[in-house]
Amino acid sequence: MKVIAATKNPGKIREIMEILSPLGIEAVSQGDAGIDVDIEETGSTFEENSLIKAKAVALFCDCPVMADDSGLCVDALDGRPGVLSARYAGEDANDDDRMNKLLEEIKGIENRNAKFVSVVTFVFPDGRVLSARGEVEGYIMAEPIGTNGFGYDPIFFCNELGKGFAQASSEEKNNVSHRGRALRNLYKKLEKELKK
Ligand code: IMP
Repeated sequence: MKVIAATKNPGKIREIMEILSPLGIEAVSQGDAGIDVDIEETGSTFEENSLIKAKAVALFCDCPVMADDSGLCVDALDGRPGVLSARYAGEDANDDDRMNKLLEEIKGIENRNAKFVSVVTFVFPDGRVLSARGEVEGYIMAEPIGTNGFGYDPIFFCNELGKGFAQASSEEKNNVSHRGRALRNLYKKLEKELKK
């Protein structure tokens, strides 16, 4: 079954294929499917935003579409940057700007607990929707450590791995990551749905 993934990131397509291909799913990126649409993520939850992305792309095709939305939620900031993780330091900011802003904002705060959250939404052409969430817990380190990964990885210490995400290999990270977990949860839901 061909599924269009509402993403421009080839790494995400690889991860989707690694986890969902046993279900006979072949993920094709929105770009490879020739769909060029600018989507405004206006939702206030990961669930809303991933549904908005999937539905926006679904308007342009007649096969299933999946989309994910993810971000970093910091306890002491009431879950921020959360759905605004990519835009936390403004539209033109880079990963370093975002990490520095976060480190500055939680300076002096004792509780540095945080989690990465990912929600994957799968939309069938007949309108059925499946949604699955994944989380990984840790804390914000005092300064960036490690060179692997992307985004906020250098300041995120993963409790389960006992090291920073940017110090972990991609295999180690994928085993515990929010996105991997959301996709594995989606796998279970899809497996049931496809048997109906
Ligand atoms: P997206 O919804 O996957 O595009 O993620 C939104 C933003 O959350 C990204 O731009 C990153 O800043 C952050 N983010 C999401 N997942 C990760 C991760 O695994 N490591 C580091 N940052 C992440």
